[in-house]
Amino acid sequence: MKRIVIVGGGAGGIGVATRLGRRLGKKKKAEIILVDMAENHVWKPLLHEVATGTLDTGIDAMSFRGHARANGYRFQQGRLTDIDRAHGRIELAPIMDGDQELLPARTLNYDYLVVAVGSVAKDFGIPGVQQHCHFLDTTEQAMEIKNILRKRFLRYAREERLKEQVKVVIIGAGATGAEMAAEMMHAADQLKGYGFNMDASMLSITLVDSEERILPQVQREAIARSVEQQLQDMGITVRVGQSVIRAEADGIVLASGERLPSDLTLWAAGIQAPEFLGGIGGLETNEDHQLVVKPNAQTTRDERIFAIGDCCACPQPDGSIAPPRGQVARQMGHMVVNNLIDLLKGREPRREYVYRDLGSLVNLSRFHTVGNLFSFLGGGVMVEGRLARFTYHSLYRRHLLEVYGLVRGTLMMGVRSLSHFLRPALKLH
Ligand SMILES: Cc1cc2nc3c(=O)[nH]c(=O)nc-3n(C[C@H](O)[C@H](O)[C@H](O)COP(=O)(O)OP(=O)(O)OC[C@H]3O[C@@H](n4cnc5c(N)ncnc54)[C@H](O)[C@@H]3O)c2cc1C
Repeated sequence: MKRIVIVGGGAGGIGVATRLGRRLGKKKKAEIILVDMAENHVWKPLLHEVATGTLDTGIDAMSFRGHARANGYRFQQGRLTDIDRAHGRIELAPIMDGDQELLPARTLNYDYLVVAVGSVAKDFGIPGVQQHCHFLDTTEQAMEIKNILRKRFLRYAREERLKEQVKVVIIGAGATGAEMAAEMMHAADQLKGYGFNMDASMLSITLVDSEERILPQVQREAIARSVEQQLQDMGITVRVGQSVIRAEADGIVLASGERLPSDLTLWAAGIQAPEFLGGIGGLETNEDHQLVVKPNAQTTRDERIFAIGDCCACPQPDGSIAPPRGQVARQMGHMVVNNLIDLLKGREPRREYVYRDLGSLVNLSRFHTVGNLFSFLGGGVMVEGRLARFTYHSLYRRHLLEVYGLVRGTLMMGVRSLSHFLRPALKLH
C-alpha cells in the first residue's frame, strides 16, 4: 500500500489529510499520515482574535489526533527538519518539554509527500525585529501577546491615576495589521464590563507602513480609504510612507529619525516560508524560501513531492505567483488530492492551479467590514456592512464544513454561536 505523508495541518494541509483519509485511508487504498509540530489545528486567519482574547481556542482548536481517528488518517506530532529524497523519507526533530524529550527524533518514509508548512513573518533584515517584536504566526505567539496585554491592562487598572496609555505599535498596515488593530480596540472597549475601570481610551495604537497607503495589496483605493477612515474614527493613528529602520525593547525608530515609544510592538509587515525550507533536500526554492512548484503543485525537481499554500511559489498564467491566502491554500489542497488520486491510478496529475480571486475582505472587528467580491470579474464589486461581514466569515464556515463534514460542521457552527451567547465575550485567562 502506498504511503502519502502531508506535513503541516493548517488551512491547506488539514483539507488534504481529511479528503485523502476519507477517500483512500478509510478504504485501505493508501496509508495517509499527517505530521504537524502542533497538537491542535487552529484556523490561522483567526489568530488575531486569539491574541486579543475574543476567540476561545478551547472551542475553536481541533485535536489532530481525534480528527485523524474519525477521518481515516494517522497523525504524528513532529517538526520537519529535512527531506532525504534518495531514500524517500523525512526527518523530524524531537518534541521537547523544556529539557525533557517527549518524542525522539524520527524519520518517516513516504511514497508521496505534500509540504504545507505555511509561512512566518519576514523581518527584511531590520535590526532588532527578531529580538523585540512579536509575531502572529502560531497559536503560542498569539497567546503570548494576549498575556502581555492582560498584564499591561492589570497594571494600568492598578496605576490608573497615572493615566499613562498602553502604547501598541503595529508594523504593517495590510489586512492582518489593520484587523489586529481594530480587534485590540474592540477588546479594550469590552474591559470595563469585566471589572476593569478602563475603556479603549487607555490604548494608543499606531499602525505604521512603508507604503504610501494602507492595504497595499488591495487594488481598489476606495477600500483602503474606507478602512483608513474607520481606523481613525476608532482612535487608531495611521502612519504611512514611514520605513522602520530599527526595533528596540521599548519602541521603534523610523527612517526620519523619529522614535515611536511602544509597550508592545507587533510585526505584520510581510511573510516568507520558514527558513529551514530554503534548499531543503536539494529542491528548488526562491529567495523567500518557498518551494518552487509547477502549476500542478509538483515540485520542479521531484515529482513525488508536492507543495501547497504559503510555503510554495505556484506560477500563474500572468507570470505572478499565487498569493499567500487561506483560500489559495484550500483550493490548492483540493487540486492536489485529485492529482494524487490520479497518480495512484497511474494517470498523469494534469490539474493545474489558477487562482481565482473570489474576494478580499477586511474585517475591523465589530466595527466595520469592507472589501471586494468576485475580483476576477473586471474589478469586482465593492461590498460593506452585513453582507461583507457574512461573506468574510463564510471562508471559515466552509473550512468547518470541510474538516468536520456537513452534520458535524453545522453543529460546530451552532456550538460557536451558542458559546458567543453563553460565555463572556473576552477570554481573559
Ligand atoms: C492574523 C491573520 C489573518 C489572516 N486573515 C486572512 C483572511 O482573512 N483571508 C485569507 O485568505 N487569508 C488570511 N490570512 C492568511 C492565511 O492564514 C494563510 O494564507 C493560510 O493560513 C496559509 O495556509 P497554509 O496551509 O499554507 O499554512 P498554515 O495555515 O499556516 O498552516 C501551516 C501548518 O504547518 C505546521 N508547521 C509549520 N512548520 C512545520 C514544521 N517544520 N513541521 C511540521 N509542521 C509544521 C503549522 O503548525 C501549521 O499547522 C491571515 C493570516 C493571519 C496571520
